[in-house]
Amino acid sequence: MIGETAEQSALVVGGGPAGLAAALALAQVGLPVTLAAGPHRPGGHGRDRRTAALFAGSVELLRNLGIWGALQDHCAALTAIRLIDDSGRLLRAPEVTFAAREVGLEAFGYNVPNDRLLDALMARLPVTPGLTFIETAGARSVRIGHGRVRATLAEGAEVAASFAVAADGRNSITRDAAGITVTTWSYPQAAIVTWFSHQRPHGGVSTEFHRPVGPFTTVPMPGLCSSLVWVEEPSEAGRLMALSETDFRREIERRLGGLLGTVGEVGPRALFPLSGLTPDVFARNRVALVGEAGHVIPPIGAQGLNLGLRDAATLADCVRDVLASGGDPGGSQAMDRYSALRAPDVNGRITAVDILNRALISPYLPVHLLRGLGLHVLNSFGALRRILVQEGVQPASYVPRLMQPGGLGGQQAAGAVSPA
Ligand SMILES: Cc1cc2nc3c(=O)[nH]c(=O)nc-3n(C[C@H](O)[C@H](O)[C@H](O)COP(=O)(O)OP(=O)(O)OC[C@H]3O[C@@H](n4cnc5c(N)ncnc54)[C@H](O)[C@@H]3O)c2cc1C
Repeated sequence: MIGETAEQSALVVGGGPAGLAAALALAQVGLPVTLAAGPHRPGGHGRDRRTAALFAGSVELLRNLGIWGALQDHCAALTAIRLIDDSGRLLRAPEVTFAAREVGLEAFGYNVPNDRLLDALMARLPVTPGLTFIETAGARSVRIGHGRVRATLAEGAEVAASFAVAADGRNSITRDAAGITVTTWSYPQAAIVTWFSHQRPHGGVSTEFHRPVGPFTTVPMPGLCSSLVWVEEPSEAGRLMALSETDFRREIERRLGGLLGTVGEVGPRALFPLSGLTPDVFARNRVALVGEAGHVIPPIGAQGLNLGLRDAATLADCVRDVLASGGDPGGSQAMDRYSALRAPDVNGRITAVDILNRALISPYLPVHLLRGLGLHVLNSFGALRRILVQEGVQPASYVPRLMQPGGLGGQQAAGAVSPA
């Protein structure tokens, strides 16, 4: 059995961006790590058509994991976020722009293509001391024993470790093995994801058109190019997915109303039904949840992977501190601390995004009045806007070491956010 003799070690199940970041972060704090994940096809771009707007702390983590250099040429800086009320309702909210410079940043963060991010993380695995990558079609079962977690892989191999990181996505079997229960829900919406080239520069500004069915959001990519997250009612989303490229391009131009000039090439489309998931705890019985195994959130406000990366960096902190005091990295001290640190950040954001989304699609006039009033207040009071922006990009309460400049060797005070 792999890992049976290593006294203290971690098993990461799942090789999405959150799992890969967790494996690299745990190895960096000196814990032997086994990563059980699917096969990798370097350069197989187009696997995941999403991009993720990653905020300053996430970018700092990627720097500290040593992968930012390989990524940055494929990413675009986000210097401002503009909200436009495109509801067509009588009571329209004012246009609001959040600028990074308002909170002393050059950029909120960067828009990062998921497939490039996966390539860069995977390329780091073989050069990371203490990290063993087992390519597998998947873990088939996970068992929690006395002081040990054991997993059986599809190919028959057995892996043991002090604790497991459940990074196996929303249907995580690792989470189930620990007896962690989840609440799930769905929204009457689906997101179409693609990219397109355009005539006018985006100027680093991401624009969200708020429509009664959900936002239509452009996010800057390098050059005259943007990614698009277009939220629609599911049957309309199905119709748009079936359109020819020419007709789909026309629909994008109509929605943009000339904002980025003529639309050129449009990339392949992918469809994501919107849903949510929260667990009862973020760690229990030698299993810690990271990424979508622990939270699913609609793609509004770009929170999902930023949360997943904060999970990875926070877990590394908890493990590092318990190792320093000679404790058990899978014991209840580390697991309870991890869960307590992640709960307010994740639950707060899931609630905020849920309220924002439901306020947008609500048929009730008082709800729109409140939403409009809120945006008026934000538009008028710079201090309030700054608080919201700061909290949106990084919680003030706890910034893990690997999300601070200098990483594990850094001296930056908790709560600080460095320029991207
Ligand atoms: C339309 C859209 C736009 C988004 N935009 C943003 C954004 O701008 N900013 C942002 O921060 N987030 C964004 N997100 C969220 C972000 O994409 C997700 O949070 C992120 O991709 C989840 O990564 P993960 O590693 O947690 O999960 P996954 O990518 O689902 O990875 C889970 C991995 O586990 C593997 N697996 C499953 N079962 C097993 C098993 N039994 N054994 C081994 N492996 C297993 C799977 O094959 C997979 O590789 C967006 C999401 C959507 C839908």
